[in-house]
Parts: sequence; C-alpha cells; structure tokens
Amino acid sequence: MLLTQDRGLLMRRALPHGALVRGDRPGEQLADVLDRFTVPLAPLTRCTACGAALHPVPKAEVAGLLEPGTRRTVQDFSRCAGCGRVYWRGAHAARIDALVERARRAGRGRQG
Ligand SMILES: [Zn+2]
Repeated sequence: MLLTQDRGLLMRRALPHGALVRGDRPGEQLADVLDRFTVPLAPLTRCTACGAALHPVPKAEVAGLLEPGTRRTVQDFSRCAGCGRVYWRGAHAARIDALVERARRAGRGRQG
C-alpha cells in the first residue's frame, strides 16, 4: 500500500494499492492515515528506506559505519533486517514521540 500526496503517481496502472494522504503538516497527515486505516502505532520500529523490521544490534557491530560524533554519544542502535541500514534515536525521535502521543490521546491508531 503506497500512501502519497502525488495524485499523478496514484493514477498509474502499475500501482495496485495506493491512497491519497490529506493534510499539509505531519500531524494532519498522521491523523488522516490513522482515521482511514487500522494501523498499529509502533514508531521507530520499521526502516524508512525499505519498510522491513528493525532489530537491536550491539554497538560494536556497527561502530565502523558511524560518524565519530554518533559513535561517541549514542549507545543503542537498531539495524534493518532488509537493507542493513543502521538507526538510533536522534534529535528527531522526541518530535516523533510527541506526534505519536498526540495521536494516541486523540484515540487514533491501533493500540499495542
Ligand atoms: Zn531497510
């Protein structure tokens, strides 16, 4: 299922399942998706590149892939089971947490 704001993309025959996401801001877009689809709220558990699940990985296993600043300041990492991309809770994580918490308080999304 492709969620997009690109109407032209949704018109393509090769796209079997797609939906237009309404709203200009991330909070409005999240509310629109959660109001129309039964999806669990599980932030920071999927790869943003390929959608596969993320799994905790020891820092030593990914240390060679990190920028020095990240290696120095971050201890907990996850890795995508699909493409191998490495993730950690960066500066954006608090904003995502707040966005998801607002959606939960509004009763949106499948809990748990
Ligand atoms: Zn991935």
